[in-house]
Amino acid sequence: MSFISLSLLAGLFAYLSPTNALTAPSPATSACSVLTSSLGAKKVASSRLSLEYISSKQDYWNARQSSYKPTCVIYPEAAEDVSVALKAINAAGTRFAIKAGGHNTNDFFSSVDDGVLIDLGYMTAKSYDESTTLATYEPGNRWGDLYNFYQPYGRTVMGGRLNGVGSGLALGGGLSYLSPQYGMACDSFRELEVVLPSGEIVTASNTSNPDLFLGLRGGGGNAYGVVTKYTVQSRPAGKFFAGNIVYLFQHTDAVVDAVRDFTLYNLDPKASVMATYETLTTPDLNLNLDEVIILFVVYDGEDPGTAFANFTSIPNLVDTSSLRTYPQVTDMPVPLLAQLTRADNIFRMGVHHIETDTYKTALKNWRAWASANKGQYTYTSFNLYPVAKSLTDASKAQGGNALQMPDGPWLWSNYVLSTPPDLLNVTYEKVQASFRDMVAATPMATDLPLFLNEAAKDQNALATFSTYSELQKIKRKYDPDGFFETKTGGWSFA
Ligand SMILES: Cc1cc2nc3c(=O)[nH]c(=O)nc-3n(C[C@H](O)[C@H](O)[C@H](O)COP(=O)(O)OP(=O)(O)OC[C@H]3O[C@@H](n4cnc5c(N)ncnc54)[C@H](O)[C@@H]3O)c2cc1C
Repeated sequence: MSFISLSLLAGLFAYLSPTNALTAPSPATSACSVLTSSLGAKKVASSRLSLEYISSKQDYWNARQSSYKPTCVIYPEAAEDVSVALKAINAAGTRFAIKAGGHNTNDFFSSVDDGVLIDLGYMTAKSYDESTTLATYEPGNRWGDLYNFYQPYGRTVMGGRLNGVGSGLALGGGLSYLSPQYGMACDSFRELEVVLPSGEIVTASNTSNPDLFLGLRGGGGNAYGVVTKYTVQSRPAGKFFAGNIVYLFQHTDAVVDAVRDFTLYNLDPKASVMATYETLTTPDLNLNLDEVIILFVVYDGEDPGTAFANFTSIPNLVDTSSLRTYPQVTDMPVPLLAQLTRADNIFRMGVHHIETDTYKTALKNWRAWASANKGQYTYTSFNLYPVAKSLTDASKAQGGNALQMPDGPWLWSNYVLSTPPDLLNVTYEKVQASFRDMVAATPMATDLPLFLNEAAKDQNALATFSTYSELQKIKRKYDPDGFFETKTGGWSFA
């Protein structure tokens, strides 16, 4: 008998054998079929043609993550479903991802290829307790859903500055327009319901699993467990004076100086600004149409007094400031930009002492890069986020968080790069690598924490926290078998 005939025979035996390797389902397929039986077909989408599957796969702010194909998507409705899911995924040994709003730009933080996607989008319950002013909500809510829900009570919750972002924002700290008054979004957590990697459902608060509670206050999502319910301190929300002031780039120096002065000298915690410098890929024909500065100003109250005087005194193209409700405040950006930014998107971060000029160097380097690489991207921006002393004080007053934020004022800088989706073998890896190198070569403070929510995975942002070794211990305690560490994406604790 020839070698080929022997191989065919062996293949036939293997095919007929119930335990053969050729037909054994993959770990992901096993987990999906177990979950279809245990959770019921209604909570599991296995067909790539189902509307739920398509919607979960498409709904990422970094469109590249939509190219990954989960083997199935599950839609838990309660902590118990998440517990069943984690146990089945662990037993099958497959990869998985936890998705809330899908806005994190890092691959595999909330997306998975050939694994189980846990889409929390159906967990949208929310409530308000008028006697305690505490708000409770589930993780499938977007910030806009929550702001709209709490508005009739004259309250709001600490969350994103744009309404479409998901609740995972608060697990990475969470910078809000109200942060100068109340700290990071995670500082307002009072109690969390958490499904641990083991599947056990626990409470994390100052009195119950306080170490876990610390890790979840800004130490990153998908690391220590799955948060299935947030109870937070709500905040009053009346009328806000807010809008966008748009400048031509010839005012770059004046605007950046105004941001510096605001960061250093503004003493009114009700005032908040974010400065964004935007560049399109279109050639610079000296028409000043490819670059624009958009400033976001928000004042918690009807009269900002002189809080924004340094900005309004600079000649501008348009100033949309007016009285708004909080849901309107978080719906301010120019609609065109929101459309343009739906692409393969990358975030990177910098952090700066305000007494040094590194943030100015960062702006200069980014602008030079944007000019030298015209045609290689669709859009890029550089954004400055002041971290006020009142913010870090408010954080400390509530017990501090995983960042243990050094006293403000200082500045976070955020860089965004948008490139078209990789199609027909045209990839943008080269320009993305060049962008990464530009940011890496730009000086920044080494004794301040990077902003987890908008850092790229290779920036290893968690390691910039002074609490890093404590977080490593918390991670080892709550994920002792390295289940999350090895089977889902996210920050490294190594
Ligand atoms: C347009 C835009 C605007 C933004 N504005 C702000 C802003 O104003 N302030 C700010 O701080 N950040 C902002 N960000 C950054 C944003 O906070 C992060 O991208 C954040 O990770 C998004 O959370 P998500 O739920 O939308 O995303 P996802 O990608 O779904 O989740 C983010 C991470 O958290 C994990 N996770 C989510 N929910 C849970 C859970 N319940 N339990 C365990 N792990 C979980 C996920 O697995 C993932 O690793 C913005 C981002 C974008 C794209």
